[in-house]
Amino acid sequence: MSSASFAALNAEQRQAVEYGIGAGDQHAAPPLLVIAGAGSGKTNTLAHRVANMLAHGVDPRRILLMTFSRRAASEMIRRVEGICAKMLGAKASVLTDALTWAGTFHAIGAKLLSDYAEQIGLQPNFTIHDREDSADLMNLLRHQLGFSRTESRFPTKGTCLAIYSRVVNAEMPLAAVLKDHFPWCADWEVQLRTLFATYVEAKQAQGVLDYDDLLLYWAQMASHPVLAAEMGALFDHVLVDEYQDTNRLQSSILLALKPTGAGLTVVGDDAQSIYGFRAATVRNILDFPDQFEPPAAIIMLDRNYRSTQPILTAANAVIGLAAERFTKTLWTDRQSADLPALVSVRDETEQARYVVERILDNRESGTDLKQQAVLFRTSSHSGPLEIELTRCNIPFVKFGGLKFLDTAHVKDLLALLRFVENPRDRVAGFRILQLLPGVGPTSAQRVLDAMADQVDPMSALPQIAPPPRAGEGWTALVTTLQQLRSGKTGWPAEIGCARLWYMPHLERIHDDAEARQMDLLQLEQIAAGYPSRSRFLTDLTLDPPDATSDQAGVPLLDEDYLILSTIHSAKGQEWKSVFVLNLVDGCIPSDLGAGTLAEVEEERRLLYVAMTRAKDSLHLITPRRFFTQGQAAMGDRHVFASRTRFIPNGLLPMFESIMWPILATQLAREAAVSQVRIDLGARMRSMWG
Ligand code: ATP
Ligand code: MG
Repeated sequence: MSSASFAALNAEQRQAVEYGIGAGDQHAAPPLLVIAGAGSGKTNTLAHRVANMLAHGVDPRRILLMTFSRRAASEMIRRVEGICAKMLGAKASVLTDALTWAGTFHAIGAKLLSDYAEQIGLQPNFTIHDREDSADLMNLLRHQLGFSRTESRFPTKGTCLAIYSRVVNAEMPLAAVLKDHFPWCADWEVQLRTLFATYVEAKQAQGVLDYDDLLLYWAQMASHPVLAAEMGALFDHVLVDEYQDTNRLQSSILLALKPTGAGLTVVGDDAQSIYGFRAATVRNILDFPDQFEPPAAIIMLDRNYRSTQPILTAANAVIGLAAERFTKTLWTDRQSADLPALVSVRDETEQARYVVERILDNRESGTDLKQQAVLFRTSSHSGPLEIELTRCNIPFVKFGGLKFLDTAHVKDLLALLRFVENPRDRVAGFRILQLLPGVGPTSAQRVLDAMADQVDPMSALPQIAPPPRAGEGWTALVTTLQQLRSGKTGWPAEIGCARLWYMPHLERIHDDAEARQMDLLQLEQIAAGYPSRSRFLTDLTLDPPDATSDQAGVPLLDEDYLILSTIHSAKGQEWKSVFVLNLVDGCIPSDLGAGTLAEVEEERRLLYVAMTRAKDSLHLITPRRFFTQGQAAMGDRHVFASRTRFIPNGLLPMFESIMWPILATQLAREAAVSQVRIDLGARMRSMWG
């Protein structure tokens, strides 16, 4: 292979691409850590490293590549193919097509668990609950145990799930998780323990796995010496991008797969660690080298190829205040006269208008919509902007937005398929049975209980006493379920059959049945791209398609569209022009946590991630009036909801420490950024003074 293919790389990147590959036994490439700041080419380097492996004859089916999202995985494969095409010509695509083990930890976990289901005593047709299904199950059990009735302030289903998930992923005792992260729930430790025990039992009895189980079961499988060796032997190379956002379970999995570290490459940036709330720990990346003997090689990159110097200066100023940091300060030779703008607007409506105007200006001057992105803290914060975009006919795609899959009718149809796949999945069954007129929670429960007693619940269905008032609807449901379960209809034709069953219910429940039917037809198109019902359900649950302004699940292929994204979902990506919404106390930084120092630090890193997505232009927008948890934060007086008491007075330094650098270093030169009207510093001081 000619090293001319890597001519564009700098010396450190090239070292990372070539380290241990091609010299002697390629299966024994020693462990490698690439740790570097945003936009320094980590992902690009990883893609080159994979291409280099392929060029040296490594079997693509024996490369495990773990990325942060499915989108990131396909993007990586696309890049590898581009690089390989230059080196290897036509056979590149054959090789990259065989990179079948590329995806998220969760998706790879699901695949391995289904391959090994029998050996580990897992029901082979297990179904996967997304976060909402998991919360629904948690809720069902909360009610059954009577906690929600006797304890009026018992944690919500979402909080229960968050606590449970934290315990599992951090491998920490419940009491410690409550104390550190959910102090307002500490009074319910006993009840929560009972609830979680019941939750685990219920999942096992029903053959369902939640997201956390995919890692948990995988980690358990990996702790079995024989299985661990078997799984490890499947792969010559294991590569992980965004390693700073892995948790302890994930690092234990990696270590079990490659105990000596041979064949292991991880890349990441400690300054971008933003998944602490899911128990990710930056210690994973910091401690990585010393887990091995001899320690892993460390390669650092400090040249940024993405952003202009003013954007980088602002971002560096924000992250420069972090308490603990490993990576070096970034530099770039991309000079520019454009400073990032901190824009003060009246409220979210004005914010939406301002952003849309700028976006249209940018398009006028040649920046496509696709080269622009609007980022926000949580998915619900884009509401006013979505309205304004729709009004102005600007198409957009919302990353990680579940609009399409979240709609009731799409969920209904998917629940039917899930119930066919796994008749013990009670959340799915509950949803389907209650679609029948005359069937409420009690009779649905009775049917599910009767089914649970059967060895083969679906075949036994005709023998089960119908719910008293279900009538005709029951017969139609039983017939459809049995037909689908028999497999005679075949995939993907069966999804049409499911839709036919569902149509009368759709028409009865919704006034706009016709529009909704279009969504279901879209779902059929998506389904046609999958080889089986189970793959379809798994993939859709683990990595749902992005929502578009068309309300449909199918991307607007060739069209130009704007990107809306949460900051978390924007990880690893870049756009020419980036807008960050709602830089407001209570939002960025968020008031959702317990206000611990670690959480404050994570908020700072989150802002850093947002700012470093921008190549040429960056707008940070701060509305003077902002609604938080249904209450208006008026003018200078921000109103906090029930969690106020857990936010220490240290909030002021927290906000200042994130905001001041931008104000101080950039806005001191306010004359250079004419559109900025800002008195944020004074406002913050007067608020607490
Ligand atoms: P993040 O931390 O945000 O994930 P990253 O370190 O993974 O960023 P990349 O996304 O790989 O960075 O690269 C950032 C940009 O810099 C990309 O557009 C990439 O093509 C470009 N780039 C990387 N290395 C070089 C190089 N040696 N020469 C020119 N451009 C480069
Ligand atoms: Mg990256």
